This record gives sequence, structure tokens and C-alpha cells, in this order.
Amino acid sequence: MAIRPILHFPDPRLRTLCKPVEQVDDDLRALIDDMFDTMYDAPGIGLAAPQVGDFRRVIVVDISEEGNAPLALINPEIIGSEGAEISEEGCLSVPGAYEKVERAEQIRVKALDKHGEPFELEAHGLEAVCIQHEIDHLNGKLFVDYLSGLKRERIRKKLEKQKRQNM
Ligand code: ZN
Repeated sequence: MAIRPILHFPDPRLRTLCKPVEQVDDDLRALIDDMFDTMYDAPGIGLAAPQVGDFRRVIVVDISEEGNAPLALINPEIIGSEGAEISEEGCLSVPGAYEKVERAEQIRVKALDKHGEPFELEAHGLEAVCIQHEIDHLNGKLFVDYLSGLKRERIRKKLEKQKRQNM
């Protein structure tokens, strides 16, 4: 288990279309363990594999206050959605930026668990927002893409400035 470095916007690797997992094996489970370590350490409530530079379709989520409800989804797919909700989002790959984004309020998702077993999940509210946000990452999409070009540009400049100062 290990904490992996998180890629930051506008790193072009965050734009990768991730590949479906073909085999759920120990190697994949090691990635999932590292993703949980990285997410809890940050701390965050969700993380997608491309954020740690692995381009397989895997996300981890835990919206509990105590951080004791880990949920890993492999090859997640939204198979139903309902309603709309605007909420403030942030992203471990876009540190310091919090903006309002509209998403479905309720979703139905199918995925594989860490043993390779298929399951379905109904999520609403924060959990639904989080899962939609993380699945976007697997398609190379970031929450800043929902903002105006001006806002996105402002966030990009701020992060690039911070990066230069940290070098
Ligand atoms: Zn994110």
C-alpha cells in the first residue's frame, strides 16, 4: 500500500480516455489499495485511476464522515439517471478550486467489485455527484470543463503559477 502522487490540471494525462479493465487480479487490487490510501491521505471523497497516472477504468469513493465506507467501482457505467442538482465541487487534481456544477440527482450504476463480481448501485445526492465526477475522469473530463472558458482559464493560470512557485 502506498500513497501515489496526484496529477494536477492542466496535465494532459488527465485527458486520457481510460481503458476497460479486462482482468480483476492482485495487480488491480494493489492499485485500488493505493488509490484508497491516496484519497484518504489527501483527504478527498473520491479518486479516479487517471489522477494517479493509471489509465484503467477504476474509481474509489467514500462519502462517509468517518472514512469507513470505502467503495471501489471497476468499469463503472451509469445505466440510469434522474433529476438535476447543482452543487459545489472540488477535485484533488484542481486544488483550491470549488465551483458549482449541475449533475443528475440520482443515478443507477453498474460496475465490477474488487473480486470481479458485477453489482449495481443506486446513489443520490453527494454520492451520486461524486460518482459522476469520478466517471468523468475516466473519460478525460474534468469538472472545470462545465465552467465558462474564462473561469477555467483563471483556474489554470492560478495552478500554473503555484506550480512554478513550488519548483
Ligand atoms: Zn476529480
